Amino acid sequence: MNNPGFQFDNSYAGLPEIFYSRVRPTRAKSPSMLRLNSGLAEAMGLDFSSMSPSEAAELLSGNALPEGADPLAQAYAGHQFGHFTMLGDGRAILMGEHLTPGGGRLDIQFKGSGRTAFSRGGDGRAAVKPMLREYLISEAMHGLRIPTTRSLAVVLTGEPVFRETPLKGAVLTRVASSHLRVGTFQFAAMHGQMDVLEALLDYTLKRHYPELQNADNRALALLEAVMDRFAAMVVNWMRVGFIHGVMNTDNMALSGETIDYGPCAFMDAYDPSTVFSSIDHRGRYAYGNQPVIAGWNLARFAEALLPLIHSDQDESVRLATEVLERFDAIYQDRWLQMMRRKLGFTGPREGDEDLISRLLDWMHRNGVDYTNTFNRLAGRNVPDAPSWEDEEFQNWKREWQAMLSGDIAGSGNSMEIMKAANPAVIPRNHLVESALEAADNGDIAPFDKLLAILSDPYPSSDRDLPDEFMSPAPDGSGIYRTFCGT
Ligand code: AMP
Ligand code: MG
Repeated sequence: MNNPGFQFDNSYAGLPEIFYSRVRPTRAKSPSMLRLNSGLAEAMGLDFSSMSPSEAAELLSGNALPEGADPLAQAYAGHQFGHFTMLGDGRAILMGEHLTPGGGRLDIQFKGSGRTAFSRGGDGRAAVKPMLREYLISEAMHGLRIPTTRSLAVVLTGEPVFRETPLKGAVLTRVASSHLRVGTFQFAAMHGQMDVLEALLDYTLKRHYPELQNADNRALALLEAVMDRFAAMVVNWMRVGFIHGVMNTDNMALSGETIDYGPCAFMDAYDPSTVFSSIDHRGRYAYGNQPVIAGWNLARFAEALLPLIHSDQDESVRLATEVLERFDAIYQDRWLQMMRRKLGFTGPREGDEDLISRLLDWMHRNGVDYTNTFNRLAGRNVPDAPSWEDEEFQNWKREWQAMLSGDIAGSGNSMEIMKAANPAVIPRNHLVESALEAADNGDIAPFDKLLAILSDPYPSSDRDLPDEFMSPAPDGSGIYRTFCGT
């Protein structure tokens, strides 16, 4: 039995041929299962229980193609750190779209399964640590209730990949509501043919925004809808202290799902200039710059859409600009709503903006942990930090409590709101690193333990989380650096 229940229906392959290049996964020498996400499998209507681990590994390494798969690499372009480049799946292969019992359509993509037409100088391979990292963080994001691509499995290929040193090769099965990106439209626009752009517009609307298929100006409506999802996505990132790290336009999914878990990491002490990526020298993708970059990426999206918005280019630019100019206000409004929830307010209060910015400013000046400050306010047990005894914070807290007691919902409800908006736990960098290190050395237990904790970041009861999962990196751990893992 070679099919755990995949129901493939490959609509992407119906786009004009320039959008993809058919390819077979490169055979893995001796694949073995490392992790299978049984919860996700079940939710997708898949059942691996009648397959042996070696059959599952054959399947999820790409050695045995499931019935109905039509493997291809997708073409796209993108601005990487501001510079435009032609790209495409260089180390990922779309196996097809799986139809779930619930009526969903999900891309099944193998990451690290060999070279494609878009690999350029790369080997199309992936190492086990970055693939496990993507698995862990994407599942943590899902636990945090942030729309994201997910991870179904990690398979060891049994072959080394060569970076600076030989590393264990692996294939990740990524599951996404699609892999359409801003860069997909940029690629189509570069092609300079209206029918190509139109086909992509039809396809994107049908797949993600069916309610807009009959809009008066469909391209403009798409721009607005994507703008709204990007605003929501970045607000979610800001809520939990997530730094994506590589917001290139090819890593911005039109579905609004967070995608591409290369150099991402979570901030401990609140500081808007926090950057983890070793290649982001100028802080382009710093925590506090994420909304600005989302706006910049939307402008690139709008440029690609221009020929579809209006036949007269000036009119097209005028219409697109009118939409883009609303981004800052939309973002700010959503951000404020989110911050109010983090502080337990049911709605706007007089002076709340000032209250929020003074709290952030205090955290910043004192290098205080972002997640745990909100945990503390939400009444959760957190490892002690002397800063919370500080007079400035105590004064701020009295003002906050006075404002809360004036809130119609009363403070009982406030605690509920806060517990739903503030995660008790985030993937702390030092814990992620040590779990990956252990897994690389053959001990998967710390990875599983961390994954289990992270899959329930909003515990309803005051279940006692061990301090070690709530504490920021110990002093003297040094500056945390991430790498793209290519
Ligand atoms: P990313 O930084 O993951 O967004 O990747 C940027 C581009 O580099 C994409 O086109 C990837 O497919 C490509 N790429 C990354 N790693 C490799 C690799 N090992 N082999 C071939 N292409 C790669
Ligand atoms: Mg990418």
